[in-house]
Amino acid sequence: MTNQTQTIFTFGNKLAEGNASMKELLGGKGANLCEMNLIGIPVPPGFTITTDMCRLYHSSGENQVLEFMFNDLFKAMQFIEEQTGTKFGDATNPCLVSVRSGSRVSMPGMMDTVLNLGLNEKSVQGLIDKTGNARFAWDSYRRFIQMYAAVVMGVKAATDQDEDPFENIIQEAKKAKGIKQDNDFTAQDLKEITARFKEIVKKESGKDFPSDPWEQLGGAVIAVFNSWMNDRAVYYRELNHIPHHWGTAVTVQAMVFGNMGDHSATGVAFTRDAGTGENLFNGEYLINAQGEDVVAGIRTPRQITIEGSKRWAALCGVTEERRSEEFPSLEETMPDLFRQLAEAGAILESHFRDMQDIEFTIQEGKLWILQTRNGKRTGAAMVKMAVDMQQENLIGQQDAIMRIDPNRLDELLHPIFDPSAALKCRELGQGLPASPGAASGRMVFSAADAQNWTADGEQVILVRTETSPEDLKGMVVAEGILTARGGMTSHAAVVARGMGKCCVAGAEAVKIDYKTRTALFGGEILQEGDWISLDGSTGRIYKGKIKTTEAELSIDFDRLMLMADLHARMQVRTNADTPQDVQTAKRFGARGIGLCRTEHMFFEDGKITAMREMILAENEDGRRKALARLLPMQRRDFESIFSTMDGLPVTIRLLDPPLHEFVPHEDSSQKRLADQMGISQKTVREKIDSLHEFNPMLGHRGCRLGNTYPEITEMQTRAILEAALNLKKECIISRPEIMIPLTGTVEEMEFQKQIIEAAAQAVFDDYNDRIDYLVGTMIEVPRAALTADKIAESAEFFSFGTNDLTQMTYGYSRDDAGKFLPLYLEKGILKHDPFQILDQEGVGQLVNIAVKKGLSSRKNLKIGICGEHGGEPASVEFCHNAGLHYVSCSPYRVPIARLAAAQASIKQKRAETEMLEKLQI
Ligand code: PEP
Ligand code: MG
Repeated sequence: MTNQTQTIFTFGNKLAEGNASMKELLGGKGANLCEMNLIGIPVPPGFTITTDMCRLYHSSGENQVLEFMFNDLFKAMQFIEEQTGTKFGDATNPCLVSVRSGSRVSMPGMMDTVLNLGLNEKSVQGLIDKTGNARFAWDSYRRFIQMYAAVVMGVKAATDQDEDPFENIIQEAKKAKGIKQDNDFTAQDLKEITARFKEIVKKESGKDFPSDPWEQLGGAVIAVFNSWMNDRAVYYRELNHIPHHWGTAVTVQAMVFGNMGDHSATGVAFTRDAGTGENLFNGEYLINAQGEDVVAGIRTPRQITIEGSKRWAALCGVTEERRSEEFPSLEETMPDLFRQLAEAGAILESHFRDMQDIEFTIQEGKLWILQTRNGKRTGAAMVKMAVDMQQENLIGQQDAIMRIDPNRLDELLHPIFDPSAALKCRELGQGLPASPGAASGRMVFSAADAQNWTADGEQVILVRTETSPEDLKGMVVAEGILTARGGMTSHAAVVARGMGKCCVAGAEAVKIDYKTRTALFGGEILQEGDWISLDGSTGRIYKGKIKTTEAELSIDFDRLMLMADLHARMQVRTNADTPQDVQTAKRFGARGIGLCRTEHMFFEDGKITAMREMILAENEDGRRKALARLLPMQRRDFESIFSTMDGLPVTIRLLDPPLHEFVPHEDSSQKRLADQMGISQKTVREKIDSLHEFNPMLGHRGCRLGNTYPEITEMQTRAILEAALNLKKECIISRPEIMIPLTGTVEEMEFQKQIIEAAAQAVFDDYNDRIDYLVGTMIEVPRAALTADKIAESAEFFSFGTNDLTQMTYGYSRDDAGKFLPLYLEKGILKHDPFQILDQEGVGQLVNIAVKKGLSSRKNLKIGICGEHGGEPASVEFCHNAGLHYVSCSPYRVPIARLAAAQASIKQKRAETEMLEKLQI
């Protein structure tokens, strides 16, 4: 940074020094305010201090940064004064500003804001003279003290259970005056409250409340910089993988007031429905209020559109007569301003080509837009909006696909309440359907309790009067969130939607008592720990725990998936071994089975006994007898899978786990087994003891089993091919791919392949018919990856078993890593859990080597992945770039992988185009 570095960018009066592309430097808020100025949206003038200054502050401290930008700050304040015709700290015509945070990506409510800055005993008088509205001026001053004291001077409730000293004064004053609403205070009341607020500040902080506006401004800017590092912001960034070094910008903007009387208002508007994705302009507002009142859920806001207002009334059981009198929409109370707001919304949505979340203020009949950003939305809304916008030609197919966060598709696939089970439960009440989903859990009343209960393995519903950013950690661990106050744009609603978590907000009939940890629903009192269930799509609250059922997939979801398939190069298969998993995966669009773990089939009733007899048999003869009993059962399983997959490839892996996993270890079960087999319990115990291994994961498993007991491989091959030939008679096509696990050398592979081929020939002779099949291997031992060229001479396909490959590359036991991985992640020794996100640097190198070597010796080698990473978006992208033909993952992750595969293709194409363009230049 040099003295020439521009530290501040101004905007106002249709001019701006920045634009929407400068989010890194000006934060989303600052960049979009500049852009709005450039396209003629009415925005109060202001300026943005860059994120560079935040970084400078955190590296060099307060004095350094204030000194560095002092001249620019002074000039920028002059700019606001000129634009507004006011003077900072003036006794007759004071300039008041807001000071807000704004990072590159929105972090709603995580950092701090100060409003009405510039007020003191002198300028409050100026504001009274200027507006002729003493009540408004004192209300603004008391709000300023309350906010500034909390944000800059640290005067606030110590914990979320403690009482807020300022709120206490307000409540006492209300009681003394016998009034219910803040709006009922007179100017004199508010003046007295302001004086009491100052006393609190002095008592709690030991300092006078600052009256010098420059001191106020410096303090607020530094406090916003500091809020970048507050606990909740750090936690939010960690949760959302936002780098800590980005820093926040600070936007200082001329105040406009929604609390100037009945012709003033403030609110939040969304250009589409953030819950469902419907193309419906909607939002909430409050007359005679400031912005924080809407978001904090302190007063329950009204809807901006007539339609929204009617829907709200229907949900809350409010009659049309009462609605239109007590809760009219903005469309009804201020029709002209509503039209202007709707027009601004339409302009902003088509300009930014995405759903906008807009903050607005109406000051005495004039509309101002304070902020616009791409709105947070539920998973379902994300899909609907992307598909609709593509069909409206607002965005192209590629943009529609790139706009979806693959991980959030999960929300759409999750179960909903079984309607018949819900009918049997007692309905406790109704709130607003703030974020869809179905959640059951035990009631807890604080974020800390939510964390404690979940640490003990309990499912919880966090119940709060309203939530604040302090509740974030509790919201993360809770199954769902219930609030008694606040609307669809309250903190709880917005944050829950962003997390894809079920939320019912503003359930006014619920009365919460934090002290006794109880909630009153109508006439019924429930205690902490009682089960309740929330339906975030209807807003209904139920007593007890409710069974769930599969969710219906929307047409938009299908459309999105078809679009994704058109753009993806890789196919997506599934890891499935039960008929139910196979069905689910097919419903989600799996193009085959990439891993059928046959051992899972052996655990079912009937099979496990034969399996145990096989393991405990004295000799090959005994094993063959038990295997002969298993054969028809395995064959039936394969027939069912092949017929469901109906001509799609099915990769069946031969027996993999160490045999001790199949035998009983308790005394009673061993006795039962001994009785069944007609041998002594002692013999059973001795045989089981002999299966003990010190490192079973590296022991007698995988192809080592098939090579020591070839009769197992023979039986499984026979079951697979007989199933395929039986179905062939019914004209059902099967495409079996027989996969050998844990191959380390080509000799191991070749030995197994010969057993398979001999068994196959025997089946073909018996049936006097044949069927095409492939023989391939998993690549999960580092040696196999390094000698992949040799192995590919024998294997017709590779499937990367990245669970074992990760285990053996790191030398971390899959079964024991839980003892140290959490600490490694916490301390930053590892960035990610390598069993969840593929380690591209190490394990990835082995994958790349194996692909290259494998293809060098067999051109048509088919290559896929079936480790857990096959359904993780970043790993799917890696697989695309490594040249794999398919990924295979668990059924519920199939849509995620389909989308991630399309995104990987699009990213690659875009990068290539960019490169070509650069080369041409
Ligand atoms: C693997 O190792 O990645 C794999 C898919 O096999 P399993 O998890 O069954 O060991
Ligand atoms: Mg494995």
